[in-house]
Amino acid sequence: MSRFWSPLVHRLTPYVPGEQPKITNIVKLNTNESPYGPSPMAIAAIREATDDTLRLYPDPESLALREAIAARHGLTARHVFVGNGSDEVLAHAFQALFSHGDPILFPDVTYSFYPVYCGLYGLPFQTVPLDASMRIRPEDYALPNSGIVIANPNAPTGIALSRGDIENLLASHPDRVVLIDEAYVDFGADSAIPLIERHPNLLVVQTLSKSRALAGLRVGFALGNPDLIEALVRVKDSFNSYPLDRLAQAGAQAAIEDEAWFRDSVAKVMATRASLSSALTKLGFEVLPSCANFVYVRHADRDAAMVAAALRERAIIVRHLKGPRTSSWLRVTIGTAPQCAALADALGTIVRRNT
Ligand code: PMP
Repeated sequence: MSRFWSPLVHRLTPYVPGEQPKITNIVKLNTNESPYGPSPMAIAAIREATDDTLRLYPDPESLALREAIAARHGLTARHVFVGNGSDEVLAHAFQALFSHGDPILFPDVTYSFYPVYCGLYGLPFQTVPLDASMRIRPEDYALPNSGIVIANPNAPTGIALSRGDIENLLASHPDRVVLIDEAYVDFGADSAIPLIERHPNLLVVQTLSKSRALAGLRVGFALGNPDLIEALVRVKDSFNSYPLDRLAQAGAQAAIEDEAWFRDSVAKVMATRASLSSALTKLGFEVLPSCANFVYVRHADRDAAMVAAALRERAIIVRHLKGPRTSSWLRVTIGTAPQCAALADALGTIVRRNT
């Protein structure tokens, strides 16, 4: 607390990022990073961009990158906005598109940054509970709103809505933006991107941090009607006109263009998710059906905090989120097959113990 702070800063409850341990000899399954390195083409492009042109500002429009993203989806660069991680893209979207007086709607539970953006920009919000099976019920969103935000697949549950459900939401709120946060969509859910041409109120946000294994480069993007994209550009140009540096633009473009590497690493994650899910089920865990690079699990008679602590003693870290709807669950990132085998092994010992 400081007398120098503005009242808004006093009221902020910032997001608490997942732990990034300083030691490396640990099985790190807590922040949904890819267990595989990024595309070798991305690394080569970053190396190539590391020269004396770094004295120059980057392209403020990130045009080559936006064109590469657009080309993958049959859209134009005018449909694409890029930012410093999808966190930044989301922040600009909340500020640019959602202050119409009514609350913004999003599920309880979902990505815990959404209420933080509302606090930052003074936007009212209302959470809509998941049903008893931890699913989003689209029919519960028939409420006055300034916009709707859905992570699809949802985080931390990993459960996805169908494209038909998203289209119904878009059609029943034609005057409001429906933002679909597709951070994890590549791991088995249907993207809403094909709906963009028909629905000018759809904004899809994606990231290179998960399926492209570039969390360290901080690149995210939004796809939508050029009218929505222009609103984001206005906010960006009033905030930081060069959000993506030269290395990020070069590496991200190469990563987007390396389709073969992308498909291969996503397939490996999905195969490991299937084997980990069945191993955990055999150990007595309830495993929610995941379309993401993590699984959300709980054990009928083992306390989640205790299990997380016991794993940590064995140098394995997973995510345990506190809170009434999440404290009995653990979110486990899909690692390599050997990492997940080590996790299942450790969990076997922990749940069989008489504590
Ligand atoms: N959306 C969701 C649902 C997430 O889980 C995350 C990762 N924490 C993000 C967005 C942000 O990802 P990034 O800023 O790395 O693109």
